[in-house]
Amino acid sequence: MSLDDFERYPLLFGPSPVHPLDRLTAHLGGARIWAKREDCNSGLAFGGNKTRKLEYLVPDALKQGADTLVSIGSVQSNHTRQVAAVAARCGLKAVLVQESWVDWPDAVNDKVGNILLSRIMGADVRLVQAGFGIGFKDSWQNALEDVRSAGGTPYAIPAGASDHPLGGLGFANWADEVREQERQLGVFFDTIVVCSVTGSTQAGMIVGFAGQDRPRRVLGVDASAKRAETHAQVEKIARATAQLIGLGRELRDDEITVLEGWAGGYYGIPVKSTVDAIRLTARLEGVILDPVYEGKSMAALIDLIRGGEIPKDSNVLYAHLGGQPALNAYSGAFH
Ligand code: PLP
Repeated sequence: MSLDDFERYPLLFGPSPVHPLDRLTAHLGGARIWAKREDCNSGLAFGGNKTRKLEYLVPDALKQGADTLVSIGSVQSNHTRQVAAVAARCGLKAVLVQESWVDWPDAVNDKVGNILLSRIMGADVRLVQAGFGIGFKDSWQNALEDVRSAGGTPYAIPAGASDHPLGGLGFANWADEVREQERQLGVFFDTIVVCSVTGSTQAGMIVGFAGQDRPRRVLGVDASAKRAETHAQVEKIARATAQLIGLGRELRDDEITVLEGWAGGYYGIPVKSTVDAIRLTARLEGVILDPVYEGKSMAALIDLIRGGEIPKDSNVLYAHLGGQPALNAYSGAFH
């Protein structure tokens, strides 16, 4: 099988936009920085990286005769919001288990942003007390069972649509899209910077780029404050995806890089470098990042350019994976 053999349910506008961040580039005085924008990849509830992954899961759900997408995430999960949007678009129902992964004191945390959007889109939103963890949870099994006992047919989508056989395909395809956009723009992105938590975004990219002729670096930035777990997850999904789409060789260990140092102590809690990166990108470019994921990967990109790990002659592509609706629950970080 190759990637083209997998059915894709069209949810995106087309290739997500790529554009240079010239004022940020000039400010940092190093590598030329570009962004590829999953936050405006579709017309579905502010888009994001999961919408691209779900293009490959929806045909499987429809083939199985599912009428309800069942998924899980934190209270301010971008993933569950995108599941709600995709369910609406496909005429399916959504049951969303929203766990209290983040101890963040904003009084409206469970009322605004992503969770508000999921409620507006008609999802059955269930708040559950449970700590951070991207594995298979009882609350999720219960939700699946509830759908079955009510006579429905659930389709299970794990956290981040990652630990699923098709989870890596969306971003393997992203890598092909990048190659075509490079051809049009006359540029080569030697370094990609991407935020990683549940892992299939980076894993898909690694496999997609591994199938291309010209090597490049994919730098994952852990935002879960558990680098080893994130690395293991990226590696597992990358190797399985490589097999699935017939890469034809084993991935080398040096193709799988997950960096730590920008997550702070906890998933979901912004630290000073996160807030500084969000402010800098907003003030120089008018580009908005979130405090859980993208602010952390941008903080990494800034430090890697300043420290010379990304050299001056580099063209670096920042994967903007969306997530801005969560900002509504983080006003306290910007006082
Ligand atoms: N950026 C945003 C905005 C996200 O919502 C997520 C989801 O977890 C990520 C990055 C990380 O992607 P992944 O979970 O595929 O590693």
